[in-house]
Amino acid sequence: MLPDILSMYEDELTEFVLSTGEEKYRAKQLFKWLHSGASLEQMSNIPKKMKEKLAEKCIIPTVKIENKYVSTDGTVKYLFKCYDGEYIESVFMRHEYGNTVCVSSQAGCRMGCRFCASTLNGLQRSLYASEMLSQIYEAQNDVGERVSNVVIMGMGEPFDNYDNVIRFIKLLNNENGANISCRKISLSTCGIVDGIKRFSDEGLPVTLSVSLHSPTNEQRNEIMPVNRKFPIEVLLPACRQYFEKTGRRISFEYALIDGKNNSEQDAVTLAKLLKSNLPGMAIHVNLIPVNPIKERDFRRGEKIMTENFVKTLEKNGVNATVRKRLGADINASCGQLRAKKYENNADLKI
Ligand code: SAH
Repeated sequence: MLPDILSMYEDELTEFVLSTGEEKYRAKQLFKWLHSGASLEQMSNIPKKMKEKLAEKCIIPTVKIENKYVSTDGTVKYLFKCYDGEYIESVFMRHEYGNTVCVSSQAGCRMGCRFCASTLNGLQRSLYASEMLSQIYEAQNDVGERVSNVVIMGMGEPFDNYDNVIRFIKLLNNENGANISCRKISLSTCGIVDGIKRFSDEGLPVTLSVSLHSPTNEQRNEIMPVNRKFPIEVLLPACRQYFEKTGRRISFEYALIDGKNNSEQDAVTLAKLLKSNLPGMAIHVNLIPVNPIKERDFRRGEKIMTENFVKTLEKNGVNATVRKRLGADINASCGQLRAKKYENNADLKI
């Protein structure tokens, strides 16, 4: 494969540009254009000769909008096509604190969480940093508004694509690029402990979200195969280490599945588990009433069950909120559009 210039740090791009016989200032111009989401044709101050050379010597593996769905609440869900024909999903959301894009880190996923649509067909491949950036640039240019926050919570497991995800975050931080600081980036993991430990030492104060979904190993083993490798008693100390090294509060995601993990007893067990293992630590539980997928028989409980779950957690000293449902009318949840595309190539309408 030819070098991917959208995944290059500025110094790497400079070296590459110099190697093609162009001058150094061209690298700076090129970096700015690339990270505004421009195509080669759109780079108006780059000479035609240089563009021809670039077209021959490198690639820019951007993603292209295959389909998009606009919700009545302003959320936009994209189905993007990658340079090799893979499909991935991203979501643009409007929050009070700014526009947020939820990006995918892999096409498919191999973690096997039972309730998740992204993993139904396994992992196709990991995405390059360029393809993660491109999801943001395409959404930004399509909506015509700046994106200020990024959540790595789309398809895939970011710590199963560690190096590219780190590169993506560092490129997002670049002031000649998107200029989005770590404090405005969240990363969600299913609990790959090696990844959490490594990430603690990167010096990148990103908000970490950990998909817990259950307070006991027995229950968690059943819905999240990753727990067999990294059980709760190994996972929570890694979270503590992340907090101690970065000072960032940890958010725990918990999908409420009716009759499985949403009883009052589950809430009490969860609160005790977190309080006793993470004393004095800034934590937050993000409750997500499960989004049913038709391949699995998981349902969300009555609204009152969710409300009681929040109350029980808070009574036991644990801060919790229910995730705001954006884009409910457009199937804006993990892997659902892509699963649909797989199922019926000709008809994507939902
Ligand atoms: N692999 C990462 C990030 C991707 S998913 C992780 O596991 O954290 C982002 C969040 O959505 C995770 O907490 C995931 O468990 C949750 N999720 C996936 N499918 C869901 C569904 N059907 N209903 C509710 N939450 C779901």
